[in-house]
Amino acid sequence: MKTQLRLFTLILTLVSVLSSGCASLPIGKEPSDAEINAEAAKAYAEVKAKSKLSTNAEWNAMVQRVANRIAASSGEKFNWETILIESPEVNAWCMPGGKMAVYTGIMPVLKTEAALAAVMGHEVAHATRRHGKQRYARAIKESLAGLVIGAGAIAAGQLLCKDATCKTLTGLGGAAAGLAVTFFSRKFSRDDETDADKFGQIYMAKAGYDPSEAGRLWDRMAAASGGQAPPEFLSTHPSNTTRKSALNSWLPEAQAAYQQAPAKYGLGAPIK
Ligand SMILES: [Zn+2]
Repeated sequence: MKTQLRLFTLILTLVSVLSSGCASLPIGKEPSDAEINAEAAKAYAEVKAKSKLSTNAEWNAMVQRVANRIAASSGEKFNWETILIESPEVNAWCMPGGKMAVYTGIMPVLKTEAALAAVMGHEVAHATRRHGKQRYARAIKESLAGLVIGAGAIAAGQLLCKDATCKTLTGLGGAAAGLAVTFFSRKFSRDDETDADKFGQIYMAKAGYDPSEAGRLWDRMAAASGGQAPPEFLSTHPSNTTRKSALNSWLPEAQAAYQQAPAKYGLGAPIK
């Protein structure tokens, strides 16, 4: 009975979210930045409300300072916000409009503050380069299916999708999960991933972090992800070798940006 009531409430919420979604977002055409950012901000508020935030003062301070520096070096005037979520998951993301999350599970894998800057640079580049725009428009169009799947899966206490990002949605309420599923289940193309690598490396360099750390980071990520579902930034990527050689080929440009950075932090603080 309790489960039925909960499911009913979820569906009511979904219907109301879907109606408001229909009213605020153009269906089937590319939405504006303002429209996408407003939807992302709603989903982000739900993620924050449902997530356990880390109380690790050292890691929180590091995540905030790296986020601020990357945001500044991107030159984008978003309403930036970053949280550190307490979770064993090796993951990080940036929603359209600059709403970011880092999971504590990624921190020991990174080993250096500069590697964190490489990851955040990559995620921020997806947002600043508007990689999600057209996919988001399609996702909204198909959101009825997404919302119903989200509600059903949560009511049943499991998620239908097996990918790592979906696991983060298990704790979310139905409406937020519906919106978040449309965001998270969106896969960037390989070209988008390569573009995010390139711009991410420039962002980290401009932010004052040694860009040569980007190539080394992906070695660590590949080693750490053995056997598990890959996080967002590995999911649709070319092989680690291809990726590293691309990052190294862009290194002269990134090094030039690093030389002009107003402050230089090298590899930053170690992450223990
Ligand atoms: Zn990516």
